[in-house]
Amino acid sequence: MTEHERKSVAVVGLGYVGSCVAGTLADRGATVVGVDTDGDLVEELNHGYCRFQEQELAELLGRAVGGGRLTCTTDYAAVARVDVVLLVVGTPVRDDGSLDDRQLRAACETLARHLRKDQLVVLKSTVPLGSTRNLVRPLLERSGLTAGRDFGLAFSPERLAEGTALAELRTLPVVAGGLDAASTISAAQFWRESLGVEVLTMSTLEAAECVKLADNWWIDLNIALGNELAKFCALFDVDVLEVIKAANTVPKGTGNVNILLPSVGVGGSCLTKDPWMVWRSARDNGLDIRTAAVGREVNAQMPEYTAQLVFDELAELGKKPEGARIAVLGLAFKNNTGDLRATPVKDAVDALVDRGAIVRVHDPLADDTEVKELFGIRPSNSVAEAVRDADCVAILAHHRDFETIDYGSLPVAESCVVVDGRAYFPVEKIESLRAMGFVYRGIGR
Ligand code: NAD
Repeated sequence: MTEHERKSVAVVGLGYVGSCVAGTLADRGATVVGVDTDGDLVEELNHGYCRFQEQELAELLGRAVGGGRLTCTTDYAAVARVDVVLLVVGTPVRDDGSLDDRQLRAACETLARHLRKDQLVVLKSTVPLGSTRNLVRPLLERSGLTAGRDFGLAFSPERLAEGTALAELRTLPVVAGGLDAASTISAAQFWRESLGVEVLTMSTLEAAECVKLADNWWIDLNIALGNELAKFCALFDVDVLEVIKAANTVPKGTGNVNILLPSVGVGGSCLTKDPWMVWRSARDNGLDIRTAAVGREVNAQMPEYTAQLVFDELAELGKKPEGARIAVLGLAFKNNTGDLRATPVKDAVDALVDRGAIVRVHDPLADDTEVKELFGIRPSNSVAEAVRDADCVAILAHHRDFETIDYGSLPVAESCVVVDGRAYFPVEKIESLRAMGFVYRGIGR
């Protein structure tokens, strides 16, 4: 990017996504101002501290703040000085699947007081179709400026995945759809110049909004397929991973059949809500969408299914649920992160506790205070402490730290089940566990 092309950017909403985006843009040479209503978060970022767990993010933000390319503030007045405003506030859904638009409304209302002519506003938060046109646009036009004439308005979904977010920001194609052709062109130019990535321009705002929902609808539904395939395979003593590996070699569409892996369940803030956003906005428009809801329901049942696997195997060993000692290793919703947002492990642990099991929990990557708060159990400090006298060791997030566990030396009960909820142990490892006297059970294995 040349000095001439270098744009100044405001990132409104410095949560997990906003921080990743702000840090990456600053690292690539843009002058970035981050705006958030959370004063503590702003102060932390300005002091080079990052509360989000994402590989390399803390270093990236530290460099950007230290080098003066990223400054953070609670004062929207700073927005008036930039060329491009990115809106990345939270867009949760309520229990009925409808959008809780409070953050988005408040951000647009405040932004309208500082918007100036010729700026480009790009919404990145995930929203139901029509939100940029029917919610964001009128709120921004309270500025007295007209979208498409006085300022540009576009939608570009954020499609990064946790754990690989920064690499994906630098490589994934960016989708951009504008209110009018000029807005689309400006947004596309901005992404090309600031991130150096391929841009897929869309013909409307709504088409761009739909891309994000289609991605997450597909992912959640394909995990649901993997989960039901796992249950199906278990009926016939077939290893689901062996089946998926072979099934995924058939060319279909622009790639191969791509059944995703089964597990204890789906967590995080996106896959657990976006399919409901699809379902609800379809229903509001008179269409009954089945697959989005079914995918959600199948995946939401997996923690209970996993707990039942534990009890089934314990029963084979003549052990009752009441009083059984169960060590749960890995509490995050994803391997190699400490992220507990909507983690399915919480429901699995609840299901174990509800039947009277004595559960110990350990996750070297998760914050102990958060664990205590969410699970209501004081976390064990080590694997050895968690598994002492355990009748079952359930690995529900398989972090790298667990790869080196020497199962033979664990101080577990004389007969012990290993339940593999997301570890996908290779066959040789399963055989070696069995040779050591463990009973092994995986999801669909
Ligand atoms: P988040 O809850 O971590 O962050 C939202 C931030 O917005 C918070 O820091 C909050 O203080 C701030 N905020 C709220 N109201 C504000 C206002 N009026 N003005 C300024 N700041 C305000 O959310 P997130 O995980 O970063 O997600 C943001 C958006 O990106 C959502 O729409 C989400 O669906 C989407 N998304 C998330 C992910 C993910 O992995 N988390 C991935 C892709 C897309």
